[in-house]
Amino acid sequence: MKDKYQKKVSKLEKKLDELWSVYIRTRDFWSCMRCHQSFRLESQKLQGAHIIRKGGSKFLRWHPNNGIALCYSCHIGWQHLGGNEVEFVRLAERVLGRETIDELLELKKAHPTARFGLKDLELKASELASLIKTVQDR
Ligand SMILES: [Zn+2]
Repeated sequence: MKDKYQKKVSKLEKKLDELWSVYIRTRDFWSCMRCHQSFRLESQKLQGAHIIRKGGSKFLRWHPNNGIALCYSCHIGWQHLGGNEVEFVRLAERVLGRETIDELLELKKAHPTARFGLKDLELKASELASLIKTVQDR
């Protein structure tokens, strides 16, 4: 059985997934960075696609630069099922700049594992929330 602390952590992780995705999609103007289709706010048909996958780096899971917005069909159909991982990274480089991708790879190397406590997660949530505000207010 999960204890109270662990329950709080899981809840916050879920909230962070949502905040991260909202940030990525808002920053990318609610449009797919591959096919350029635009979506209404909060649409679930547009997703935040991780550049370095969650399984590849726990440390980068909620990093604000570790994703670009892709529509469901580009994310799942083209990137994942279509086997276009390399093309996807190239696309991400064009969107975010080569330096940003290099930085992500350095961070991944520097932090092979990560364990975030409740305080860390709360901090990340408030950082993402203010980042969302900045891109909303553009
Ligand atoms: Zn698309």
